[in-house]
Amino acid sequence: MAKKFHLAIRMCVACRDRHEQKLLVRLQCNEGLLKAFTKKGRSFYICKSCLDSEKKVIKSLMRQCRSGDKEKLINRLKEIITDGRES
Ligand SMILES: [Zn+2]
Repeated sequence: MAKKFHLAIRMCVACRDRHEQKLLVRLQCNEGLLKAFTKKGRSFYICKSCLDSEKKVIKSLMRQCRSGDKEKLINRLKEIITDGRES
C-alpha cells in the first residue's frame, strides 16, 4: 500500500517562491548572528537555488538579521551550508 504523506511547503525569503522543505535550508538569526536552525525561536528558509547567488540572499539575510554586515553574513552562510553538507 502506498504510504500517503504530505509535503511540507515553505517559502524562501529571498525569491518568495514556495518549495518543498527538503529544497530549503532553515536558518535563524539570534542577536544579529546567523546560524542553522536550533529548533527554537524564529526561523526562515532559503532555497538552494538562491543559496548559489550571494546577491539574491544578502538583502533577505540583512533584513532577517537586522544587520548591515554583508561580509559577515555571507561568510556565516557559507559555513552553515558547508557544515550541513558534511554531516
Ligand atoms: Zn529562493
